[in-house]
Amino acid sequence: MDFLSVKDVSVAGRRVLVRVDFNVPLTESDAVADDSRIRAALPTIRFLREHGAKTILVSHLGRPGGRRVPDLSLAPVVRWLSRLLDIEVRLLDDVTGRRVKRAVESMEPGDIVFLENVRFHPGETENDPRLARDLAGLADIYVNDAFGTAHRMHASTYGVAEYLPGMIGLLMEREIETLTHLREGPQSPYVAVLGGAKISDKLAVCRELLNKVDALILGGGLANTFLLCLGYSVGKSLVEPEMIPEVRSVIAEAGSKDVDLLMPLDVVVAEVISPGAETRVVSSSEVPRNWSIVDIGPRTATRYAEKLQEARTVFWNGPMGIFEISEFSEGTERMAESLARLEGATTVVGGGESVEAIQRLGLADRIDFVSTAGGAALSFLAGRQLPSLQVLQRPEGERRPWIGGNWKMNTRRDEARQLARDIAAGYNGGSTDVVLFPPHPFVESVGEELTGTSVGLGGQDSHWEDTGAFTGAVSALMLRSVGARTVLVGHSECREHFGDDDDRVHGKLAAALEAGMSAVLCVGETLTEREEGNHFETVTGQLEVALKAVPRNSSRKLVVAYEPVWAIGTGRPALPRDINEMTAHLRTELQRLMGPDAAGRIRVVYGGSITPGNIREVMELPEVDGALVGGASLRADSFLRIIRRASGEGEGV
Ligand code: ADP
Ligand code: MG
Repeated sequence: MDFLSVKDVSVAGRRVLVRVDFNVPLTESDAVADDSRIRAALPTIRFLREHGAKTILVSHLGRPGGRRVPDLSLAPVVRWLSRLLDIEVRLLDDVTGRRVKRAVESMEPGDIVFLENVRFHPGETENDPRLARDLAGLADIYVNDAFGTAHRMHASTYGVAEYLPGMIGLLMEREIETLTHLREGPQSPYVAVLGGAKISDKLAVCRELLNKVDALILGGGLANTFLLCLGYSVGKSLVEPEMIPEVRSVIAEAGSKDVDLLMPLDVVVAEVISPGAETRVVSSSEVPRNWSIVDIGPRTATRYAEKLQEARTVFWNGPMGIFEISEFSEGTERMAESLARLEGATTVVGGGESVEAIQRLGLADRIDFVSTAGGAALSFLAGRQLPSLQVLQRPEGERRPWIGGNWKMNTRRDEARQLARDIAAGYNGGSTDVVLFPPHPFVESVGEELTGTSVGLGGQDSHWEDTGAFTGAVSALMLRSVGARTVLVGHSECREHFGDDDDRVHGKLAAALEAGMSAVLCVGETLTEREEGNHFETVTGQLEVALKAVPRNSSRKLVVAYEPVWAIGTGRPALPRDINEMTAHLRTELQRLMGPDAAGRIRVVYGGSITPGNIREVMELPEVDGALVGGASLRADSFLRIIRRASGEGEGV
C-alpha cells in the first residue's frame, strides 16, 4: 500500500488529529439511528487510546452550510461514542480558538476529545488554508479514517494533511485494501450488482466494472433506462432518456467484452409511489402506461440469485427498488439475502442506501465487507483518484524496510502464541514492515495475537490451486481466510525438499497475488551453480519464470528475498560483497522484467543468516531493503533487536 498507517508510527504521548466520518442519521429525539459508521471507526480510536495517544476527533454532521446550527451539534454522537467506548469523550464547543487550544493542551495520554461539527465553519468545504492550519496546529500527527468523505477536498480531509505528517486509520486501511482488491485482482467469476436511482450517477463505475466483471446485474431505477433503450415502454417510471446513447454504448461494450448483462425480466409496478400502494407484477415488456416500476419482480430475483451462485466475488451497490417503502422492498431484501447466503464468494457492499438496506435487514455480519462509503467507494472503483488519499500518498520510489520472521518447522502451539505476543508488544510501529511466518497450524492463533498490532502475518508456503485434491497442501485463500496477508514462495527448503521448481513457484506466486496477498519470492543459487559460475543466470531464470505475467501494479505487494543457498550449512559465509553483487543484479533484472517504476517499489531483502550483529551491515548495502530472518526470529529479544537496528534505531550490540 502506498500509505503510512497509524500502526506505522509511534503515537505514545503525541496529539493525533483523527478525521472520522460520523455523519450519522439522528432520530427526532436526537438519538443515533444507525451507529455503524461510529462502530467502524472504533478500532482506530481504541488503538490510539491503548497506545497512549492524545486523540482529537473531528467530523462533520449534515449540511449546516458554514453556520452554527444547534440541531447539527455533534453532542448526541459524542454521547453515543462515550457509551460505546465506556469512557468520557469530551465535546469541545468549537474547532479552533483559544478555548479549544487550551483544552487540547491539558490532555493526558489516552484522553479523547471531539471537536464540534467542522462544517459550522465556512472554511471547511472551501478548503480554507487558515482553517486547515488551525486544525493542524492542534496536533502532531494527522490520521484520516473517513473513507466516506475521501472524495472531498475539504480543510479537514485534505488541507490539514499539507501541514502535518499524515497517515490512514485502520478503517481506511481496510476500505482501501478491500476495494483495491476488487479493482485490481478479484477472483473470477466476478459479478457486480448495480441498482439505485440514476444511471447518470453511476455511469463511470458501470463502465469501469465492465472491464472487470463476468456479469453485471442491473436493478433499481437505473435499469429502467436500459429497458427503455431496448425499446420497452416503462410507463411513468423514473428514467433518463438523455442517457440513452451512453446506455446503448454500455450494452454494446458488454457484448464486445463478453460480459453477461442481466436486466429485469419482470418488475413490480405501482400507480402511486406511497406506502400502502397497490402493486402488480408484470413482465418488463408490459409495464402499464400510467404505472411506475418500483422494484424487480420475483422471477428476476430468482434469476439474479442463481447468477450470484456462480460467483467467487460479488460487489453490490444500489437497491433493487424503492426499498424505503415496504411494499416495494422485496427485491432489495431478496438480493441482500442472496448475498448473505453465498458461501464460496467474497461479498462486498458499498453505497449509502444499499448499505442501509443490509443493516436494516440485520445481514451486515454475513457480508464480507460493508463499506462505510457511498460516493467515495464508487469513485474509487471507477479508478478515480480521491483527493484526501492523494494528499496522503507517499512519494514513489520510497521503499519501507521489510523484516520477516520465518519460524520454519519450529515452535509449539503455546510457544508460537507467546512469541508473537512478545514481538508485538516490543514493536509498536515504526518505519519498518514486520511479518511473522508461523507454521500453518498456528497461523490463526498467532493472528489473534497480532490483530490491532503493527506486526503482519504470513504463511510459509501456499499452493497454486485454491482448492482440490492436494493432500497436505494449503492454499493462499485458506491462509487469507485465517488472517494471513503474505506468503513465502520458492524458499530454498521448498525447492530442495519438496521439489518446487520455477514453474511451481510461478504458480504459487500468481495464486497468492490473485488471492490479494503479498508474496515473498525467494531466489538463490546452490554451491554447484555458483562453482560453475552460473549464479547470475540461475537467479535471473528464477525471476523470469516466477514473475511471468505478474502485473506491474503488484509491485508493492512483492518482496524478493535473496538466499545464498551455497552459504547455508557449508561453512562458507556470504560476505557483504557477495550479497551486494547479487542484490544489485536482482534490482537490474527486476527493472528489465517489470519496468523501472514497478522495480523501484519491489523490496529486495537478504534471506541468508541474519543476527542482531550483522543486520546493520547488511542493511547498509544500497539495494537491500530488509531481511528474511530464520533462527534469530525464534527469540523475541533477538528479533526485536534486528527490527530496531534495521530501522536505524538503537545503538550498540
Ligand atoms: P446507493 O446510495 O446505494 O448508491 P442510490 O443513491 O443510487 O443508491 O439510490 C438509492 C435510491 O434509489 C433509493 O432511495 C431508492 O428509493 C431509489 N430507487 C431504487 N429503485 C428505484 C426505482 N425503480 N424508481 C425510483 N427510485 C428508485
Ligand atoms: Mg445514495
